[in-house]
Amino acid sequence: MATPTHEAAVASGLGASVTRNQLALVTADVVECRRCPRLVAWRERVASQKVARFADDEYWGRPVPGSGDPDARILIVGLAPAAHGGNRTGRIFTGDASADFLFPALYGAGLSNSGVSRRRDDGLRLIDTYIAAVNRCAPPDNKPTPVERDNCLPYLEREIAALERVRVIVALGAYAWDGTLRALASLGHVRRPRPRFAHGAEAQIGPYTMIGSFHPSQQNTFTGRLTRPMLDAVFARAVEIAGIRARGRAARAGGDAPDGRGPEGSPKRRPRPVRSSSAGAGSDRARG
Ligand code: SF4
Repeated sequence: MATPTHEAAVASGLGASVTRNQLALVTADVVECRRCPRLVAWRERVASQKVARFADDEYWGRPVPGSGDPDARILIVGLAPAAHGGNRTGRIFTGDASADFLFPALYGAGLSNSGVSRRRDDGLRLIDTYIAAVNRCAPPDNKPTPVERDNCLPYLEREIAALERVRVIVALGAYAWDGTLRALASLGHVRRPRPRFAHGAEAQIGPYTMIGSFHPSQQNTFTGRLTRPMLDAVFARAVEIAGIRARGRAARAGGDAPDGRGPEGSPKRRPRPVRSSSAGAGSDRARG
């Protein structure tokens, strides 16, 4: 959350380190969270009972924080960790079928140094991209309740507020679209009429361009509802809007993220979002 101390630091040019500190604080709070009794019980039960194919793995079994590049210009928002994906590995979109579909597309767009996301310690780095979710605990049937969503949204709000360079938010699925709209509203960015989710939908909301994409879940990818070209098009558009195409490709070629800001020059940090009300809000449901 923005604080007078934070604002002063940003004004004095210390914004990058402040962003890192703010994200670290969110992460510290997320991993200790037990606000939703049903989800706490579920994530821990899944972690103790496991499934046969991961019987030898030590499950994370805790809330999964956002991760990626603190200087990201693209934020990707999912639904929640998968029971045997993020809930097992401790990193969002890691070690499951959704990750196997998502990361080749990110790599192809120059937004990661690898197209493989299997373990928390696999050396994967996101480039100009940060990934978070509406809910940080794996929910039964991928369906958090409205109360559970509202319990968790303040974390996303804090991440959006901390990620000063973010210009584009890619929402993976209708639930992420809805949750992101709610988070932005809590930060003072409201758009009327409310933009509707669709694959490829775009909406300008305050300083952000939201882009909708079908979620890369098996139920979408196995049925052909979401194809690789469709997902590629979403990230190509995100990269174009964020103005990071050349930088991303250059970074991928080197297999690493450069510290410099992009070939177009150094984009300015946007003004920090102003929180207009309390954390959380409203009602509804749907994966990350
Ligand atoms: S879903 Fe979010 S609010 Fe609920 S227990 Fe997990 S981290 Fe906490």
